[in-house]
Amino acid sequence: MTEENKNNIKELTKKLLLEIGENPNREGLLKTPHRVAKAWDYLSKGYKQDISTLINNAVFKEEYDQMVLVKDIEFYSMCEHHLLPFFGYAHIAYIPDGKIIGLSKIPRILDMFARRLQVQERMTQEVADMLNETLNPKGVAVILEAQHMCMQMRGVEKKNSYMSTSAMHGIFRDDDKTRKEFLDIIKLEKKF
Ligand code: ZN
Repeated sequence: MTEENKNNIKELTKKLLLEIGENPNREGLLKTPHRVAKAWDYLSKGYKQDISTLINNAVFKEEYDQMVLVKDIEFYSMCEHHLLPFFGYAHIAYIPDGKIIGLSKIPRILDMFARRLQVQERMTQEVADMLNETLNPKGVAVILEAQHMCMQMRGVEKKNSYMSTSAMHGIFRDDDKTRKEFLDIIKLEKKF
């Protein structure tokens, strides 16, 4: 984000404060426009990230052909309908076909898509598609489970409901047994 972008966000935030009936000049709010601009700079980082820099050669040739699964990866995103947070856990699996990816890159790919305005459905698909394109694996499965502040703090105010979305490619889509194995593992209790 450029300095100009940040300055514009500061101005917009001052206006927002006025419009909701606040006084942007009272002490507690003086630095709020500055903080909001900084926060949005961070929350929108994903727009400028580029997949090849992010992966940075961490794709390796490997003959392992069983399921690789990372579960309970925390993520935080912003819903594009209300500009309110949604956050939760991602469970991501793939079955390699000659290539594996450095494990730390999976949460980074997730964050690249989370740090944008999103709808959970699209984000799930984008993560699955990106892994599919990058690794050409036998299959990819992504499940996101999230709580949406736009649903919990306003509107229907259902604080215990969460949303689950999934996207599958290849063998996870075509083979019931593989999909079931994935779903059984992600249902297991957290151990640490
Ligand atoms: Zn929303």
